[in-house]
Amino acid sequence: MPLRNQLTWLYTGLLSSVILLLAIVIYGTYSFMMTRSLDRRLQWAAQRILDEFPAVLSSSDTDTTVNLPNSYHFQIWSRDGQLITYSENMDEVSEALDPSALLETKQVNRSVKIEYEPYRILSSPIALNEQNTVILQVGLTMQTLQESQRFLVLALVISALILVLLSWYISWNRLGKFLEPLKQMSEIADTITNTNDLSRRIPLNSKRNDETTHLVLIFNNTLARLERLFNSQRRFLADVTHELRTPLTVIKGNVGLMRMMKKYDDESLTSIEIEVDRLTRLVGDLLLMTQAETGKLPLFFEIVEVDGLLFDVFEQMKVLSKGQHDIRIGSIEPAIVTGDRDRLKQVLLNLGSNAIKYSPAGTKIFLSLSLKDKWVLVNVSDEGRGIPKEELKFIFERFYRGDKSRSRSRESGGYGLGLPIAYWIIHNHGGRIEVESEVGKGTTFTVWLPISQTDVPTRPLRPMKKE
Ligand code: ADP
Repeated sequence: MPLRNQLTWLYTGLLSSVILLLAIVIYGTYSFMMTRSLDRRLQWAAQRILDEFPAVLSSSDTDTTVNLPNSYHFQIWSRDGQLITYSENMDEVSEALDPSALLETKQVNRSVKIEYEPYRILSSPIALNEQNTVILQVGLTMQTLQESQRFLVLALVISALILVLLSWYISWNRLGKFLEPLKQMSEIADTITNTNDLSRRIPLNSKRNDETTHLVLIFNNTLARLERLFNSQRRFLADVTHELRTPLTVIKGNVGLMRMMKKYDDESLTSIEIEVDRLTRLVGDLLLMTQAETGKLPLFFEIVEVDGLLFDVFEQMKVLSKGQHDIRIGSIEPAIVTGDRDRLKQVLLNLGSNAIKYSPAGTKIFLSLSLKDKWVLVNVSDEGRGIPKEELKFIFERFYRGDKSRSRSRESGGYGLGLPIAYWIIHNHGGRIEVESEVGKGTTFTVWLPISQTDVPTRPLRPMKKE
């Protein structure tokens, strides 16, 4: 059964039970109060008869006049079942108003039927002297009470029906509106499955601020993320195919040339070597990513002097830049961390080579190292093109490359794997990477690493969280 039906029936069922309970309480309370009021009136009448009792008994006529409204009936019986007297508004008396109460020793109130008519009877034993007791029975018809009870039941049933129907209608409508986003979600998921179109989104109702709105937001975000991932994978696959095809064409061309010339040509061999290097790097990066993703990349922890490591990186960056950039090393404090030296160097070198790749010749690149609380901070800043704000949150994702970087990938050799690998390595050292950037002004990457606690920790390898 659809959720909408289930919930509607549940609400309606619950409401019906509450209404039924309430109706029983109202009916019970009403009947109890009305019967009590009848009993009080009977009590009052009995007292009145008792006040006139000697006169009533001494009356020679069995039809006795007591100053009572006509609706009251009364009889006085002896213990041995002899009728002593009765009210004049009664026809021929053949039996007591409440025969079963004639033997009672205490006052009782009962509801009885006399010739199919409901009556409330009060029976009260009255001691004339020590041996002689008579029973006074006073009665009032309960017809009016029963009619009002019937009317009350009718009113309760009609209002309950109206309430239940109304609640069913409102629940059905409201639930339809509440569950609409879920319906849309399943429709869109279905469309995506059938068409592979991840660009679809569920329209958001800005006026609502409930769980379904939250769910729609999460669902849309997940779709956006999936779309980005899907696109980046597709783009990556296209890039990898392109990147693989170009060196393979170059290699094949050079081999063909040498075969035609029937001699080894140094230039062709160098060209083959460069292309093989590129291929090796791509395959290496891919392998690293796969290992990182599955948590199988081994890290060998040791004590690392970060200041010395930064100097090595500085030297290598100068070589990479070929003197085109003004690379400077700023304030350096001695700092020791526990980590995998080669992997940490790989991270810093990746940040340094990115700074070189994405900055025009002649600009400055700064490297610095400082200590803050229990952290070692390594800064790599450039005065390059910067990263647009909307791209910043993606740069640590696998295969992500800024549009301009894509067109330059052959000359720069990047595949969009450098930063995700760096992210994973630093996170597995208990640190983090932060980035600040302004388009046209430059970019600063800051690596935070925990200062060494002397003992070499055996941190567990964690699989990469970012995708
Ligand atoms: P790539 O191989 O493309 O360099 P990375 O993962 O190292 O891959 O970097 C991802 C993207 O982040 C780059 O394509 C580039 O758009 C951007 N980026 C990284 N570092 C810088 C920087 N210093 N200046 C400008 N953009 C940068």
